[in-house]
Amino acid sequence: MADYDLAIIGGGLNGVSVARDATGRGLRVILVEQGDLGSAASSASPRLIHGDLVLLEQRALLRVRAALTERDRWLRNAPHLVRPMRFAVPAHPHERPAWLLRSGLWLYDRLSSRGGLPGSATIDITHHPIGNALKRPFGTAFEYSDCVVDDSRLVIANALDAAERGAAIRTGARCIRAEQREVWRLVVIDRGRRTVITARALANATGAWTASVAETVLRVRPPRLVPIQSSQIVVRRLFDNENVYVFQNTDGRLVFAMPYERDFTLIGTVAHVFKGDPAAVSMAAADIGYLCEAANRYFRERIEPSDVIMTLSGANMALNPERPRPPDGAITLDAPRRKAPLLSVFGGDITTARLRAERAVSKLTPFYPMSPRWTANTPLPGGDFGWQQFEAEVDRACERWRFLSEGQAQRLVGAYGSRLPAVLGEAKNRSELGPAFGAELTGAEVRYLMAKEWARFADDVLWRRSKLGLTMPPPDRLALTEFMATAS
Ligand SMILES: Cc1cc2nc3c(=O)[nH]c(=O)nc-3n(C[C@H](O)[C@H](O)[C@H](O)COP(=O)(O)OP(=O)(O)OC[C@H]3O[C@@H](n4cnc5c(N)ncnc54)[C@H](O)[C@@H]3O)c2cc1C
Repeated sequence: MADYDLAIIGGGLNGVSVARDATGRGLRVILVEQGDLGSAASSASPRLIHGDLVLLEQRALLRVRAALTERDRWLRNAPHLVRPMRFAVPAHPHERPAWLLRSGLWLYDRLSSRGGLPGSATIDITHHPIGNALKRPFGTAFEYSDCVVDDSRLVIANALDAAERGAAIRTGARCIRAEQREVWRLVVIDRGRRTVITARALANATGAWTASVAETVLRVRPPRLVPIQSSQIVVRRLFDNENVYVFQNTDGRLVFAMPYERDFTLIGTVAHVFKGDPAAVSMAAADIGYLCEAANRYFRERIEPSDVIMTLSGANMALNPERPRPPDGAITLDAPRRKAPLLSVFGGDITTARLRAERAVSKLTPFYPMSPRWTANTPLPGGDFGWQQFEAEVDRACERWRFLSEGQAQRLVGAYGSRLPAVLGEAKNRSELGPAFGAELTGAEVRYLMAKEWARFADDVLWRRSKLGLTMPPPDRLALTEFMATAS
């Protein structure tokens, strides 16, 4: 008898989504992650939850429709983490003609179930807030609806749900060897201790490590994959509205510029084949220059590479990226006779991660009895309110915890949703929440993150459970490190 029905290696979005789906279908699940949850590609994504206009241009209409359906599901099931936004494509005289953009967005509207999101529109931006940040000649823009997501908190929410349904989630646990017999036998270095785990099936969800883990840890023939890197830059806030700009660049690619953590702008994406160690993905100077130039073509305020506050780079594996329509992630099942099955789940958009996990787990139905698919209409932890109610939730938080500013309440509701009382409790004033780290973080929140969300180190809190690392002064970071060392 194996310890678990399914062991998963990798705690990025693909791994935790498989863990959530499988646990909810009644399987006994363990997930091992060598670092922190979401510490690789899943916290360095372009943050888009979308049908993808590029796919529309490639005429992959069924994929656009499927992604838009998933977009609307995320909005319903994670209204705290996924925010609807209006995306604006300024018409550029040297790029796609207006009729093409208008008809493309008309089709995008038709492919969407909309779920209450407004449809596309043509707007005169000469006297519109969207136009304020742009250079003079831009007079028209095409607006449509899509969403942005807090990528690393989406990982945590999936892991939390999996754990609450019974999955074992182990961070700081590296799988160094796995033998495929009638059951899988995994050797894991779990926070320095060697442990052995047995499981009836194994899922390799190690992202950019998929091929190397297959070869060196599982010792099976690795799938033929191409590692792809994607990168974004973060600069100061370049505009004061809550829209996402979509810029058509000189090479025909689309570059997105979105509000990021209140005071910043995220600009991306540049993607290409990646070579090197997935643990050390960094952004080349030429790629930084490319994104700055793309933004400078449109924004009034120029940015230079020296203005870049932070870069976000992640790598993942792709099957056949050179194909005109590369697939959106992949799932493979390897089930040799008399041996336990191996699933590999890699690549793909955040938007379709839930569906990918559902399909991956369904591939195991010949091996175990399993309850039906369930994640399409089940909220993630903290997401049990309508997305239209987000601002009302913020108002309620401001009323209940009167010491919160509007901005603080926005951040907290955006992170914890309806679970915020578990973080702030019955506090009547700020001092009841323990020591303060920077302007926003309190001891109570840190304790919650350590107790419930697997945070072990300051970086886990500053860069994945939140992005407060962007604004926290170094002495407060040091104080946070010391606090966490004594609180654990
Ligand atoms: C080029 C590119 C473009 C993208 N564009 C978009 C986009 O437009 N929109 C969008 O939504 N998404 C996009 N994404 C997707 C997104 O960034 C990630 O690919 C997604 O979050 C899935 O990540 P993952 O779980 O497969 O991998 P990761 O998040 O990298 O997770 C893999 C995990 O496995 C762990 N691991 C590795 N080896 C071991 C081991 N031996 N033992 C234990 N743990 C191990 C690692 O530490 C890591 O945390 C893009 C990705 C790429 C690469």
